[in-house]
Amino acid sequence: MSVDQHENSNGERVILLKNCKYNAFLDGEFDEEKNRREFQEALQAVRNKVDSPMKQMRVVTLSKKISCWHCYKLFSEDAEEKQRVYEKDFCSKECVRAFKH
Ligand SMILES: [Zn+2]
Repeated sequence: MSVDQHENSNGERVILLKNCKYNAFLDGEFDEEKNRREFQEALQAVRNKVDSPMKQMRVVTLSKKISCWHCYKLFSEDAEEKQRVYEKDFCSKECVRAFKH
């Protein structure tokens, strides 16, 4: 795992965690305790380096695949078609509709 940070055009500090297997925002991958620890240590290390605490900080994990709640298809977490409804992720509007019915 590698940690990268830069500022985007909004002045936000964006932190990229590359090849991170653990996603703090996704349930279900808590079995890999080591990855979870690495993730938190990296996050802490970056936080300690941030010299301007007033700045907004955004953490982005790359290469994350999440599974559609309806059809179980794996898709990229930042996919444009991604739908988030009732705290669940879907790969498309069609799947959201199918799930609701
Ligand atoms: Zn789907």
